[in-house]
Amino acid sequence: RGHPLHVERSEQTILVGDSGVGKTSLLVQFDQGKFIPGSFSATVGIGFTNKVVTVDNVKVKLQIWDTAGQERFRSVTHAYYRDAHALLLLYDITSKSSFDNIRAWLTEIHEYAQSDVVIMLLGNKADMSSERAIRREEGERLAREYSVPFMETSAKTGVNVELAFVAVAKELKSRA
Ligand code: GDP
Ligand code: MG
Repeated sequence: RGHPLHVERSEQTILVGDSGVGKTSLLVQFDQGKFIPGSFSATVGIGFTNKVVTVDNVKVKLQIWDTAGQERFRSVTHAYYRDAHALLLLYDITSKSSFDNIRAWLTEIHEYAQSDVVIMLLGNKADMSSERAIRREEGERLAREYSVPFMETSAKTGVNVELAFVAVAKELKSRA
């Protein structure tokens, strides 16, 4: 640290969760500050975005990987889990199945990821309150059960999106 040739490491951060929960939209909102409705193919492979988040005057470099939900049934993401410093695990508050699958995702994460990986649970599409299937308290309860922080986000309105990534960066920094 502090050496002129020191190369800052990037914190590998992965978005996971069922197809359609809004992973790609969340990353686009965080990266570009906008919502592009319905324009992402669920089968698009893994891509990444580099973002720098400032936490207490310290820059935390995040390399954020987007995954396609179906890949949970294959082995391709296991290497990504292993190298991950942080995981943002998403469900869609209008989709009970996406919420019910969170346990399966956490089982997989605990199997393949490093034991000290930073995990954050996000209930996305918080703007769609009229179609809500999962109450906020249910998200909070599940998060408590697994001892992970929780937020409801909207990739559409942008609510809590920046905050979620900053919270992850903060946690990463405190563990560094
Ligand atoms: P992914 O498969 O997890 O990457 O999900 P996408 O980002 O492709 O989003 C799936 C669908 O949900 C698209 O039609 C998005 O426009 C929509 N979507 C994603 N996030 C939100 C959100 O926060 N609010 C609303 N209303 N729609 C969203
Ligand atoms: Mg996607």
